[in-house]
Amino acid sequence: MAHSICILGGGFGGLYTALALSKLNWENEQPEIVLVDQRDRFIFAPLLYELVTGELQTWEIAPPYEELLTNTGIRFHQSGVSNIDLSAKQVTLSNNTKISYDRIVLALGGETPMDMAPGVAEHAIPFRDLADAYRLKDRLRQREEANPDKIRVAVVGGGYSGVEIACKVAERLGDRGRIRIVERAENILQNSAEFNQKAAQKALSDKNVWIDYETTVTAVSADSISLNYKDKTETLPVDIVLWTVGNKVSPALDALDLPRNAKRQFTITPTLQVTEHPDILPSAISQTALMLRAKQCRLPPSQPCSKLTTPLGIFGLA
Ligand SMILES: Cc1cc2nc3c(=O)[nH]c(=O)nc-3n(C[C@H](O)[C@H](O)[C@H](O)COP(=O)(O)OP(=O)(O)OC[C@H]3O[C@@H](n4cnc5c(N)ncnc54)[C@H](O)[C@@H]3O)c2cc1C
Repeated sequence: MAHSICILGGGFGGLYTALALSKLNWENEQPEIVLVDQRDRFIFAPLLYELVTGELQTWEIAPPYEELLTNTGIRFHQSGVSNIDLSAKQVTLSNNTKISYDRIVLALGGETPMDMAPGVAEHAIPFRDLADAYRLKDRLRQREEANPDKIRVAVVGGGYSGVEIACKVAERLGDRGRIRIVERAENILQNSAEFNQKAAQKALSDKNVWIDYETTVTAVSADSISLNYKDKTETLPVDIVLWTVGNKVSPALDALDLPRNAKRQFTITPTLQVTEHPDILPSAISQTALMLRAKQCRLPPSQPCSKLTTPLGIFGLA
């Protein structure tokens, strides 16, 4: 009987894992590859910003899975995931379909936490998804049509997403925009090289985007944002708040009883499988695993190539 590989999440990790698996030269029988995603289309997230300026259209950055998976043999289910039973090796989807597997890839990605300050969930817009981009576009259009003197946008978070969306909103609004980035740290793009930080600062300054450093958002309302700087809180009027801060794992994965480190990340073996659970490959790790062809893998010295098996081995099917 053919083995079955179930891949939960059709983002960068899950989709590319599925496609790479479907192209492998299987020595035995080709396994059944099942891909599950709650959406009907893949989203090329790095181009999501261009939807806001109208430089790109939805079809250019979000092709339907149906098209992407044509002639690949990959079976697609559009559904959420309601339960993963590790001992029975069975996934229950939100539409009640049950999928049994021999190997499972956990690639459900992350979510933006919207509970980091009062009012964020109700009034701020995250920026991860097509729906978020449409919501932002719609709010910008409404404000543009209302034709106020200035359209005030606060972007919370000075990471890559915050910087990039601030630039795009500034481009769209031109002189009508009054855009600020609120960043808790002393610098934007904290984990990047100084060269990148300087380039981002210049791009933001050229577009008249203001940056509040060492500032924390304490509350958001329908028309204001409260900012704390050096123990003083000030409430400013605002039209749109974008929330680009934080990342939390999908609740479906959080519930799993698997070995974890102090940061609640799954612990893995040198062959990139969850410790004591060789049938489970977590998230982005799966991308890496599949890029490693047995004889052409490229790894940092800390991870000797000899310790890795082939993709077929990792999937227990060689
Ligand atoms: C706006 C934006 C721009 C970015 N730009 C860059 C960039 O330029 N360069 C870069 O390296 N990275 C960039 N990133 C980060 C990059 O997109 C992520 O690192 C990458 O998507 C992570 O891949 P993943 O497969 O783990 O998760 P994702 O790509 O997020 O995929 C997760 C998938 O799981 C699905 N899913 C989630 N929960 C469920 C559920 N319960 N049931 C069913 N399906 C579910 C989702 O619909 C999604 O399709 C950007 C991210 C964003 C939001």
